[in-house]
Amino acid sequence: MKRIDIKSIPLPDLTARFEALGQPKFRAKQVFRWIHQKQVGNFNEMSDLPLEFREKCNEIFYIESINIKKRLVSSIDGTVKYLYELQDGNTVEAVLMKYKHGNSLCISTQVGCRMGCAFCASTIGGLVRSLTAGEMLEEVYSAGRDTGEKVSSIVLMGIGEPLDNYDNVLGFLRILSAPDGLNLSLRHVSLSTCGLVEQIDLLAQEKLPLTLSVSLHAPNDAARNRTMPINRKYPVDELLAACTRYFHATGRRISFEYALIAGENDTPAHARELGQKLRGMNCHVNLIPVNPVGGKQFRASEKSSIGQFVSILEGLGVTTTVRRRLGTDINAACGQLRREDASTGTPH
Ligand code: SAH
Repeated sequence: MKRIDIKSIPLPDLTARFEALGQPKFRAKQVFRWIHQKQVGNFNEMSDLPLEFREKCNEIFYIESINIKKRLVSSIDGTVKYLYELQDGNTVEAVLMKYKHGNSLCISTQVGCRMGCAFCASTIGGLVRSLTAGEMLEEVYSAGRDTGEKVSSIVLMGIGEPLDNYDNVLGFLRILSAPDGLNLSLRHVSLSTCGLVEQIDLLAQEKLPLTLSVSLHAPNDAARNRTMPINRKYPVDELLAACTRYFHATGRRISFEYALIAGENDTPAHARELGQKLRGMNCHVNLIPVNPVGGKQFRASEKSSIGQFVSILEGLGVTTTVRRRLGTDINAACGQLRREDASTGTPH
């Protein structure tokens, strides 16, 4: 019989399963804490469980784990980049950024990605598979154990499209925020999407307090179609309407990501069009000078164009920040380490 991944099971489901096995009500909470708080790798370590039940668990379940295959530390700002190896040999990346207010971890949600954005390294080889909730939790737990420090905020902005792995991501968020787990408030979580409108509407119904980051990168369909294939399915105005619905349902301000690409989407006309579409919306714009990706001809905007872009947006009342780039010496931008590793001939 194929064993079941216990790390991906939320506490209410685990409680029901254990009751069906004739266990007392408190048993699931005990095991859940062993897995998500003490983070043991083996049922035998669960010392307050009857020996017989530990053996039963061993027969039915397994405890997911991932390995740190590579670990790069930035000598500039202490950013740590992990290449994690999953049990099937696939690899994903996570990046730990150190801020004054705590450690923020950027995690992957899929092995590869099928969204096809032209500037993104993660999508070059397509989608291999989605991660389970347990694997995403392990990205967080491993970084915490490795640094000996608490991960205080999480961004789902690594490899993959989180809303293309909707159920597992939702399971991950539920377990992450469970009081008997890491108990991390979803106020400290951001989920980044290229704009899957149907899933944004589904997520809105969940009324979670997380921040929705929307990768916009262009103010109109002509420009967005050139770099983001998803725009042909969900054009800019439909996406922005979904963002407004999301805000009304959750009360959470939307964060827009906009990678500035020289000559492509960074002119004053682009800034004005963007500002006019976003003004009056409860939102914030994060500008990121595009990270050049091997084999692609995109260049980051000049400092002067960035300054001009910001002042046009601010002039229209749209609050804007230019994202500081961390870990530039270790190639911290997502998708790049995994590709490097694959091209050195490491088996997958
Ligand atoms: N699929 C999700 C999350 C992963 S990508 C999404 O699209 O939002 C995380 C962020 O990095 C997105 O905003 C993405 O558009 C951006 N990104 C990808 N490649 C980039 C690059 N070369 N330079 C700057 N930002 C990039």
